[in-house]
Amino acid sequence: MYEENINRPEWVPENSGKEFTTYVMPGVEAVQTDVNDIKLVKRKKLSVDDYYNGIINRDIAVLSKAITLIESNSQVHIDLAQEVLKKILPHTGKSVRIGVSGPPGAGKSTTIEALGCYLCKQGLRVAVLAIDPSSTLTKGSILGDKTRMELLSREKNAYIRPSPSAGTLGGVARKTRETILACEAAGFDVIIIETIGVGQSEITVRSMVDFFLLVLIPGSGDELQGIKKGVVEISDMIAINKADGENINYANITKTHYKQALGMLQAATEGWKTPVMTYSALNNKGIDKIWTEINTFLDVTKTNGVFDKRRKHQIINWVFSMVEDEIKNRFYNKTAIVNAIPKIEKQVLMGEITPTNAVTALLELYLLN
Ligand code: GDP
Repeated sequence: MYEENINRPEWVPENSGKEFTTYVMPGVEAVQTDVNDIKLVKRKKLSVDDYYNGIINRDIAVLSKAITLIESNSQVHIDLAQEVLKKILPHTGKSVRIGVSGPPGAGKSTTIEALGCYLCKQGLRVAVLAIDPSSTLTKGSILGDKTRMELLSREKNAYIRPSPSAGTLGGVARKTRETILACEAAGFDVIIIETIGVGQSEITVRSMVDFFLLVLIPGSGDELQGIKKGVVEISDMIAINKADGENINYANITKTHYKQALGMLQAATEGWKTPVMTYSALNNKGIDKIWTEINTFLDVTKTNGVFDKRRKHQIINWVFSMVEDEIKNRFYNKTAIVNAIPKIEKQVLMGEITPTNAVTALLELYLLN
């Protein structure tokens, strides 16, 4: 049988010899843990200073928590987030903010990944955010279906944050703008915002970035490309992706088409002629050219003052777009208004009151209640 003193097992089968190797070793006494203690550890609340220090010291875990706070719709979180944002404000504004738009499947993610990796190799820190107001409806499935930017997510200087998944475009825009500020305070040099959703998201992204890149595929005509009217007009660069293999000629024809089309449009940015180029994100060909153009753009607009002017304009517009959203919310959430709307709609439809009368009645109700 077993010698005493040498790791004596707690139990062995009867009549077993030394050849028996499966021992039941003495167990370790369980330490009694208070469940509430675990909760306390897990839910340790960060103070404004904790958030501030973490963000400034580039602690990504704290940055992520701060963004979660920014994305919360609870008033307590909103108030705390505002305090944090106020404190980090002096450390914001130093990044290059780039918007990337284009029809689904054009290669936005592939482009952002290639550009992001390229920038990380240059020693820059890159944050990638997304705007997808439609994910409220699809429950984020657009992002969920795809493995997003695997290579870039492995770069230590890259941070990828999916779109806040709930809310109106106005709400998502507020959250994204505040997230940009948090990322800037955390030292990211380049912030890329991808539009994934439908509707007005391109215009919204344009209103928060310095440079707006439109990714298209070989094929002429906006309708064919699946882009909305007006998107070309707000772009600072048109990049025709998938210029590889048999597509190269077709991509060049598309380039000529868009060059001509742009000739008839007003420039998206004062003093800047929107370039059109072809490239292949998949083969990593031309990604450096995109970055060179962005840098030329920054040189031009910083020299002629347009960069600064746009940033100032954007922040003031942000204030008033929030005022509008807030007034709208307050109006439509007021019980007196909710109750009066069916009756007033009926009166308008029956021709009993004019639309103008209806507005006066609703606003009076709102102001008196
Ligand atoms: P997104 O929906 O605009 O983000 O597009 P993705 O980046 O997800 O790309 C859609 C598809 O196009 C994927 O299958 C990519 O592999 C492919 N793709 C992206 N860039 C290129 C490219 O430069 N050349 C080719 N041939 N295919 C590409």
